[in-house]
Amino acid sequence: MVKDIYLYNHYDQYDRVSRRMLEESLETYDLYSENLSVINQVAYFYYQRNDFYHALDFVLKAHALTITYNYPNEYYFTIKLTGDIYYKLGALESASKYYMMALNQTGDIDTNRKKCDILCSLSASYQESGVLDLATDYGVEALQMAELLEEDLLIGNANLELCRIHRKRRLGDKALKFGLKSVEMFKKSKDQRGLALIYLEIASIYANQKDMMLSMNFYEKALGISMDIGFEEGIIHSNYLLGSLMFKEGNTGKALIVLEEALEVSRRNSLGIHKVDLYYLLSEIYAETGEFELAYNAYKTGTELNEHIRSERHRERIYQLQNEFNMSLKDQQLKHYKEENQTLEKRNKELTEEVIRDPLTHLLNRRGLRNAISGIEYLAKDTLILCDIDDFKQINDQYGHPCGDVLLQSISDLMVKYSSEKDLIARWGGEEFLILLPDTSMEAAVEYAQRMMNRIALEEFGCDDHSFRVTMTFGIASMIGDFETSIHLADQRLYEGKGNGKNQVVFK
Ligand code: GH3
Ligand code: MG
Ligand code: MG
Repeated sequence: MVKDIYLYNHYDQYDRVSRRMLEESLETYDLYSENLSVINQVAYFYYQRNDFYHALDFVLKAHALTITYNYPNEYYFTIKLTGDIYYKLGALESASKYYMMALNQTGDIDTNRKKCDILCSLSASYQESGVLDLATDYGVEALQMAELLEEDLLIGNANLELCRIHRKRRLGDKALKFGLKSVEMFKKSKDQRGLALIYLEIASIYANQKDMMLSMNFYEKALGISMDIGFEEGIIHSNYLLGSLMFKEGNTGKALIVLEEALEVSRRNSLGIHKVDLYYLLSEIYAETGEFELAYNAYKTGTELNEHIRSERHRERIYQLQNEFNMSLKDQQLKHYKEENQTLEKRNKELTEEVIRDPLTHLLNRRGLRNAISGIEYLAKDTLILCDIDDFKQINDQYGHPCGDVLLQSISDLMVKYSSEKDLIARWGGEEFLILLPDTSMEAAVEYAQRMMNRIALEEFGCDDHSFRVTMTFGIASMIGDFETSIHLADQRLYEGKGNGKNQVVFK
């Protein structure tokens, strides 16, 4: 039996879990009920079978164990899975909390890969709850990390999240760009589940753009793949969206057929996400066709389901679990730091710094910058610069990634050196920086950017035995009240500069 534990050691790679596998893992659990990896396995198998309430029961058992801190890698899995379960149940706030915890507890194997994975999940969770700014930040961070790791599947996932966010923002073209990249990556990594999900996104973008033919086409592709691989969430979601599209087109008969099919699949599992919407849409269609009893029943079921997701029992459980978890986390930290003879305050301070600063350049990261400006009212006399290193990819390709990193550091140092203390400088993306100049007119900002541009173009950068020069392009906008609008404008100008030959400052 013990052997089984090792047999399933990489259980997180099991896409399909049979009834038999679940039963076997439960038998193992009867014998080793205090074993974290056995509990994880059972929870994960329930999760894979879309039985989220049982999965939750088992992760709860795992959190309640007292020895979790001896197994950081296994425990990481528990925390991440808890987040995933809440996500599927539609309890997004709890999902995000667990993802945050997971970010601080990645264990010591594959740390970067895990971080990238969680950043994607966080982005998804915030996206589902409509907090798009945070969702974007996490999505961009995930993409950056995935590109550095050069892992197709991770790059595909990050692009999928960014596609979703931009679709929600109604930036169809940008969303499509991420979407197509995601398709390419999922095809390369042969991830059918990912493909089904991204086809759903692309279909929705076309639906927003009123291109019903293309939209229908992609929904059907997504449905086909989901049926092939028995991906229930995909089947429910594509049928739901296909149904709502047909309903919008006035084809209630066909809409009802696909929605009933989605309902049939959804009855078999406890997927919370999308299911409530499904019942509400069905109710609307029944009402439209005069089937008021069916409409009433569907509405009632949807509402009950919704309440169930947010039920008191559930909330109480979340609360208990969080308390337990926080206590164990604190104990664990305390123990750890006592051993190392450090004070908790010091580590806390470091943790805060880690959260708001980019580890490579020590500039503020996106979160840090937003944090720094939150609550401040910006006026037209403040100016914002977005700048990006030209042809940076070539530097990486020619001299290697480590040299690219050194260059990023040198340029950051230069920027800090040539700015005053009240200017806020952040690393906004891979090789893109944001500079906020408070109380600075457009003329002064342009002058500042031109000086910086010339200064950088003249600098001889070095790494290993190589020396090289680089240029940068700058886009400037006044802070016209709303930070997002100004960023967008600066971004457009930067983009324009890139198109016009780079190494320039664009400000109108
Ligand atoms: P452009 O002039 O249009 O800006 O072209 P570019 O090559 O600078 O831009 P592109 O977006 O094509 O490539 C940026 C590359 O930067 C891709 C990515 O692998 C790399 N990159 C992102 N973050 C890092 C990092 O932290 N370190 C290193 N070495 N490379 C990074
Ligand atoms: Mg660049
Ligand atoms: Mg760039």
